[in-house]
Amino acid sequence: MGIAENVIEIRREMAQTSLRCKRNPEMVTLIGVTKNMTADKASQAVRAGILDLGENRVQELQNKHPLIQGVRWHFIGHLQSNKVKYIIDKVHLIHSLDRWSLALEIDRRAREINRAVPVLIQVNVANEATKFGLEVQETYDFVTEVSGLKGISVQGLMTIAPFVEDPEEVRPVFKQLKDLSGHLKNIPGVQMEQLSMGMTNDYHVAIEEGSTMVRIGTAIFGYRDY
Ligand SMILES: *Cc1c(COP(=O)(O)O)cnc(C)c1O
Repeated sequence: MGIAENVIEIRREMAQTSLRCKRNPEMVTLIGVTKNMTADKASQAVRAGILDLGENRVQELQNKHPLIQGVRWHFIGHLQSNKVKYIIDKVHLIHSLDRWSLALEIDRRAREINRAVPVLIQVNVANEATKFGLEVQETYDFVTEVSGLKGISVQGLMTIAPFVEDPEEVRPVFKQLKDLSGHLKNIPGVQMEQLSMGMTNDYHVAIEEGSTMVRIGTAIFGYRDY
């Protein structure tokens, strides 16, 4: 199937899953993850109705940004502090705030351009050594500190679940992120409206557990060549 058919099929599945668990399908945003894909493929997805694109490398976002208009760009990968300056004026949402040094740099660069940049806090719910993100237990204090930075607007949480054959296995990971957001929502100055969770392999389960943003690459664009 082509990219356009894939987008239609995923939207249909997202809507079905939402309705099955009595959620409004409009409350879940589909982010097309274009990493390792050409700008041409990304444009095909946009023509098929994708309004949000996600990149996990600064260089790729910088390359595609001028070529594709009218979409919201999401930065979803590990972000080095020295590269914040290249994307600060281009991103709609940074999904991967995971440490204080990065928070300070985002804050500094955002205030330079009079923005409060929307971010999600990345949480390593499953505590995988190979993944970035805060531990669950340190998240409350971290969010409290970040809430004092004028250049940052906390909108919610993000997690990457472990890759497993059967997505049912990671349901508890999504539940835990949702619970955590409930605990954090009373911190003054932060919003906990967004839960960025769910990828090709596990987005149905993530939607059932309250995801508001799914980040999907393979199911739209096919397997990536590295
Ligand atoms: C690559 C990537 C995705 C998309 O993964 P697929 O399994 O191809 O859908 C989602 N989120 C992040 C952070 C990624 O790096």
